[in-house]
Amino acid sequence: MDFRLNEEQQMYVDTVRRFVKNEILPNILQIDKSHEFPYGIIGKAWELGILNLSIPKEIKGFEMDAVSTALIIKELSYGDTGISTSAMCNDLANTVIAQHGNARQQEEYLGPYVKAPLLASFCLTEPGAGSDNSSMSTFIAKRADGKYVLNGAKCFITNASYASQFTVFCKVGKPAAQFLACCIVPAEEMFRDGKPNVPAKPQTELAAKGGGRIVIGKPEEKLGQHLSNTATVTFEDVIVDESQIIGDRRQGFKYLIDVLDYARPMVAAIGVGLARRALDLTLQYTRERKQFGQRLCDMPVARETLVAMWKKVELAEMALMKAAVKVQERDEDRGMYSSLAKNTAAEAALYCANEGLHLHGGYGFMQEYEISKLVRDAHIIDIYEGVREVQHMIIGRELV
Ligand SMILES: Cc1cc2nc3c(=O)[nH]c(=O)nc-3n(C[C@H](O)[C@H](O)[C@H](O)COP(=O)(O)OP(=O)(O)OC[C@H]3O[C@@H](n4cnc5c(N)ncnc54)[C@H](O)[C@@H]3O)c2cc1C
Repeated sequence: MDFRLNEEQQMYVDTVRRFVKNEILPNILQIDKSHEFPYGIIGKAWELGILNLSIPKEIKGFEMDAVSTALIIKELSYGDTGISTSAMCNDLANTVIAQHGNARQQEEYLGPYVKAPLLASFCLTEPGAGSDNSSMSTFIAKRADGKYVLNGAKCFITNASYASQFTVFCKVGKPAAQFLACCIVPAEEMFRDGKPNVPAKPQTELAAKGGGRIVIGKPEEKLGQHLSNTATVTFEDVIVDESQIIGDRRQGFKYLIDVLDYARPMVAAIGVGLARRALDLTLQYTRERKQFGQRLCDMPVARETLVAMWKKVELAEMALMKAAVKVQERDEDRGMYSSLAKNTAAEAALYCANEGLHLHGGYGFMQEYEISKLVRDAHIIDIYEGVREVQHMIIGRELV
């Protein structure tokens, strides 16, 4: 077993580190406070080639392996986890097309992301169906002409106010049906005058390509991750052609599990990036701050906390890398390792942010100290892509 990065992976890490240092960290508190969607930074990340990592090579995508993907997301998250959540969301939405879409679907629905810095949304959660996503009620019903009509409301959807394509999980036939389908709903105008049609302001309504309305709610005001966009999405009589349905229209649940197995290590990467940033900020602060005539980092109890933070980061990184390898190799037990990595990283992020704030004393409670932002940002890592208890359910099921 080799824990060293190969040359290409080291190059990705160095490139993203430089990007974070030059483009994100210098003004992070200012841009976080502005709550403005950082489309400029996302555009630069796209130009650099660190977005849309799952798109197959046949359509000129990067088709990046899971380990390299995790490394890139981890480094980007060191800068800001709102930005990395938004960036990663494209792969969350598009990976099902890469994994289970046919050649025509891949060309049509993934091709635009290779050509331009467009954004995609992954639409699973509903007001009444969070952890228990099988209780969703958004559904497609077949019309006499063979086309389907999609109706229903999704909530907490990342990128929704700026997205030009929506990957939608829905019931087949009626809201209480047993089977899930996965369909792709592009906006009518993904490009305008040859340019990507990404709105300057949060969009409130879009025309779906085949007909019908996609209504987007007001961007949510969140505790943290101010630089990711989150909103409700309602599909009103959206016409879905058979060709927009991925794979078998009754196998959506299986495709969903594949997506989540791929995506949970990526959320773990977000957690590890944040945890390491919290550790580094706290090391820097406690090396400089003196009380009782000595540096904070030299006081035994404070040093013990720093060691505990470091251990959490290192263990979370190991769990992340093991899960990424398992996903890459498509090992049978990849699901439980993805869940382990997600929980371990969420715990590291919360611990390091909270203890880091504590070691900053009263200054940590001030908004001008980045550690206070990390505390706000960390909580969602324990929630999205399945709360901690759901990960335990997955691990427990595998174990017994
Ligand atoms: C910022 C943000 C971005 C998001 N982005 C997306 C997105 O892009 N696409 C998307 O589809 N969704 C997205 N989500 C939704 C997210 O995945 C859900 O919020 C999450 O899965 C939890 O669902 P819920 O909020 O309905 O909580 P609930 O399912 O209601 O759970 C609430 C609490 O109940 C407890 N609980 C739940 N189930 C169990 C159990 N089985 N055993 C024991 N306790 C349990 C847990 O303590 C849990 O925290 C996002 C959410 C946020 C906040």
